[in-house]
Amino acid sequence: MKTVRLILGDQLNQNHSWFNDVNDDITYVMAEMRQETDYVKHHIQKVVAFFLAMRNFKEDLSKKGHHFIYYKLNDKNNPQQLAEIISKTIQETNATKFEYLLPDEFRLDQQLEQICNSLNITTDSHDTEHFYTTRLELKDFYKGKKQMVMENFYRMMRKKHGIMVTNDQPEGGKWNYDQSNRNKWKGKTPVPKEKEFPKNVNDIVQLLHDENVQTFGNIDDTKFTWPVTRVECLNTLDYFCEQLLPHFGDYQDAMHDDEKFLFHSRLSFAMNAKILSPKEVIHTVLDHFYDKSNDINVSQVEGFVRQILGWREYMRGIYWKEMPAYKKLNILENKNKLPEFFWTGNTKMNCLNKAIGQSLDTSYAHHIQRLMIIGNFALLTQIDPNEVDQWYLGVYIDAIEWVEITNTRGMSQFADGGIVATKPYVSSANYINKMSNYCGKCYYSPTKKIGEKACPFNSLYWNFLSEKREHFKDNQRMNMMMALLDKMDKNQVYEIQKKARDIIENLDIY
Ligand code: FAD
Ligand code: SF4
Repeated sequence: MKTVRLILGDQLNQNHSWFNDVNDDITYVMAEMRQETDYVKHHIQKVVAFFLAMRNFKEDLSKKGHHFIYYKLNDKNNPQQLAEIISKTIQETNATKFEYLLPDEFRLDQQLEQICNSLNITTDSHDTEHFYTTRLELKDFYKGKKQMVMENFYRMMRKKHGIMVTNDQPEGGKWNYDQSNRNKWKGKTPVPKEKEFPKNVNDIVQLLHDENVQTFGNIDDTKFTWPVTRVECLNTLDYFCEQLLPHFGDYQDAMHDDEKFLFHSRLSFAMNAKILSPKEVIHTVLDHFYDKSNDINVSQVEGFVRQILGWREYMRGIYWKEMPAYKKLNILENKNKLPEFFWTGNTKMNCLNKAIGQSLDTSYAHHIQRLMIIGNFALLTQIDPNEVDQWYLGVYIDAIEWVEITNTRGMSQFADGGIVATKPYVSSANYINKMSNYCGKCYYSPTKKIGEKACPFNSLYWNFLSEKREHFKDNQRMNMMMALLDKMDKNQVYEIQKKARDIIENLDIY
């Protein structure tokens, strides 16, 4: 039976069982399409990375004998929209069956269902064989429970998959080494340089320009360094195990203006595009850990495993449990506009200047920069979560809606009212100063609340608590912060709020 099988740009799993055998009756179809370049304004490095990864995937599998139809963005006969691409391929191959891999995005899931309903041939969908969990496993796990605390899900996953567990007990005696993952990086432990795979991508950059695809952010088209092939991604994983894992946990939450990546793996694109599977990442890391000649502390490894086996699978489960309503949630009723400096990095606030500047330069910021610098500021200034989501979905190389929206709208903006996070991730300058060297080089003073040189985060923080008080009245985890606010001198609170309002109204001059 002649069959057409669709592969989307984030389904680049070469080890999928579809590819176990070569079958001349099967045509795989892949397409660079305007539908995907235009649904949000993307960082240029993100588009380049996806196109390169897709082209490499097609090359690798074609060499093994599989048959592909691949539409480049500027191919004259490229219909640019998914429905037309599928029907055209079916027609041209005389296929009597259409198959696809279950997409991870709600919008594509719906679209593919509609497309299948409109086809008059047999259709079928298959698992991507990528995640540990099914779409609805988390929903079943939390059935009947009031709160969906990630830690409970994570422990279940450790036991279920036998990861760092013996007789149902955690390796090293503790489930979670979060407390030891909060060191400031002071320069004593050298940070190995990030693994780079420089290549000239001028042809793709030119293609995007010629086709008038709207992107933002910076790129050196003579030296694009992200890993995009299977071999490059595997090399990045090995490099992480050998060079970065020994200190990953220690400095997981640290930030430094000279070290963009610190000990982070930079594997999120490789995993989100499914070039690497979470299972092979975790097992490679564990093999390295159990090889005692490497002498790696359990807290480094647990910190890493928790991100993938815990947070990543958890976010996927929340997405499928809560969508499509999740996309509209704005419990705190935030309505402000994103400041212009999110597109330029031009602000006197050094932490934002560095975290946003780095995002624009590399299409990457690590978790704490995303959460406690950029996200923290957006929440304190009460930006509309739709605007925040659009920015995050565009800017990061790893941004795909299922993992972007749950992290941004949920964890970082508390727009879901506490589905993902039990309290909002907000802080004054104190936390930023504790975890980074940003404040030392800043125009503003992290200890001042009012006055010209006062750090904006300070007045914004107290103003946020005061203005959003009603929303937190039943949240016990907010009691301590609220008690501190209540103890403050009323005149001081008045001055702080006046300052905060001035900041919010004039974001781009701060
Ligand atoms: P490492 O620090 O080395 O961690 C290893 C892996 O763990 C990552 O590659 C990632 O796959 C996984 N991971 C870590 N934290 C999370 C998390 N909170 N949720 C899911 N997976 C996690 N991650 C994305 O993949 N895509 C996004 O669009 C995205 N948007 C985010 C938006 C906000 C506001 C925040 C706070 C976090 C977001 N994250 C997102 C999670 C996290 O910041 C990135 O996964 C991480 O920074 C990627 O860099 P890394 O590969 O070096 O990660
Ligand atoms: Fe950021 Fe305030 Fe520190 Fe400046 S002083 S780096 S604005 S936290």
